[in-house]
Amino acid sequence: MLQCTAVTQAPPGDVPDAPAAVDGGPDSPPDAVTPNHLPFLLCELGEHDDAFPEHAAYLRSAGPSSAPALWFFWTGAGLQRVNRVDTVPWCPAVLRHLGTGVVQRCAFFDRHPPPHSWSVTDPLGDLIAERLLSGDGPDTS
Ligand SMILES: [Zn+2]
Ligand SMILES: [Zn+2]
Repeated sequence: MLQCTAVTQAPPGDVPDAPAAVDGGPDSPPDAVTPNHLPFLLCELGEHDDAFPEHAAYLRSAGPSSAPALWFFWTGAGLQRVNRVDTVPWCPAVLRHLGTGVVQRCAFFDRHPPPHSWSVTDPLGDLIAERLLSGDGPDTS
């Protein structure tokens, strides 16, 4: 299943502990901007319909990795947007790869719309990864 394409702006006031402003001025060290503090949030769920109208973006953990994490939920866009920040437990589902024995935890919150995170593909992310691997690598010939 493809990833939901919803994007929304994260107003600093709605995100606890987020920096007041990321102005990108010359004095700002580049590593001050982390993915969790970008002004735009992408819905991380698989495409979902009206049965699950809320989009969701992971903000940050609220403790140890297994502890509930902060998520940003929203519906609608622009002035019609309704949003909330909530602390929710992780989805308990795990995927065990037969053969390797590697266990992958679902990266979504509990009771998210189906499917689990390992069934969601992000074409844009895959495209970027492909270009990084194939196009701009060092020329070894
Ligand atoms: Zn969504
Ligand atoms: Zn899940």
